[in-house]
Amino acid sequence: MQKATETVLEIDLNALAQNYRYLTSKLHKDTQVMGVVKAFGYGSDSVAVSKELISLGVSYFAVAYPDEGITLRKAGVETAILVLHPLPATFKKITDHCMEPAIYSRSMLTQFIDFAEEIGLTNYPVHLKFNTGLNRLGFIAEDIEFIAEKFAATSSVKIKSMFSHLAASEDASETAFTESQIAQFKDISEKINKKIDYKPLRHMLNTSGVLNYPKAQYDMVRTGIGLYGFGNDPEENKHLKPVATLKTVISQIHTVKKGETVGYNRAFKASETTKTATLPVGHADGIKRIFGNRKGWVTVEGKKAPIVGNVCMDMIMVDVTDIDCQEGDEVIVFGENPSADELSQVINTIPYELITGVSQRVKRVICRK
Ligand SMILES: *Cc1c(COP(=O)(O)O)cnc(C)c1O
Repeated sequence: MQKATETVLEIDLNALAQNYRYLTSKLHKDTQVMGVVKAFGYGSDSVAVSKELISLGVSYFAVAYPDEGITLRKAGVETAILVLHPLPATFKKITDHCMEPAIYSRSMLTQFIDFAEEIGLTNYPVHLKFNTGLNRLGFIAEDIEFIAEKFAATSSVKIKSMFSHLAASEDASETAFTESQIAQFKDISEKINKKIDYKPLRHMLNTSGVLNYPKAQYDMVRTGIGLYGFGNDPEENKHLKPVATLKTVISQIHTVKKGETVGYNRAFKASETTKTATLPVGHADGIKRIFGNRKGWVTVEGKKAPIVGNVCMDMIMVDVTDIDCQEGDEVIVFGENPSADELSQVINTIPYELITGVSQRVKRVICRK
């Protein structure tokens, strides 16, 4: 692997393949995988990731918003794409690009059918999303009759799948709640099945669901974070490899004398001679300001270099007093060490937030390690 000469986010497609194989080893042979590539592929590169996932065998993609799916279509991806969060204003974008909406409310269903009839669609695939406890988006059991009547009265749309989303699949103290979500979904989907003469796909599991509740895998699973290398559990993380590595370089080294300060607001005051390295990555790149003042660190020559002073928009300064390093040397912000998981814990967040937070200013470099 070439050493970084500027700030880059390396995307390791071999790590993606390894994670895919680990996750699918938990599934039956014929369970389909929907690759979740929303938010630029969890901050990576949704096109490169999607193309690799197609070669690995995914049969569906999920995005949150239509523009994310259009990016894939423009790059030549022809695989089915589920849009998890459509709005009436985006119906046309969705159908123009052969994407499939998740329908989550009576009003959305009515509006989508009206739209589909108006532009003359037939049997257009839609996905019914049921709320079984997350209370975010979704129909409830009381909507079943309404749904059945709506589909009986039109040939413009067809139920391609029914799905629900777990609220706490990673949380061992919430198994009773998760089991109740699984039971509710089973009940709701069976009721829908009784009202129509074809069998839509069913899916309910995200990554932690795959790892903790494989019995509820149905026809398909929707996996995101696991593909990118995080299993929401230290044991599972041993089998997964981070796809993204944020790297940068040392722009300048300073010797800061006792009593001198570093950075805005003079937030770091040297109590002894301190060697600092200035790095070309800041809060505008996704290094949250809360990592300043020694909360966060980077790895230089295999050693921990804490961030000193406040995080600037385009730079951070790190303490390299005890590290043998020079201007131009490569620095790991996160990847294997430190991992995004480890770093996220020190600021009470989750790796999802760190990896999706790497701004589009940072160049993505595709590699196979
Ligand atoms: C984001 C998302 C997923 C993927 O969840 P992971 O925990 O990243 O595997 C699955 N389903 C829905 C509805 C989502 O919004």
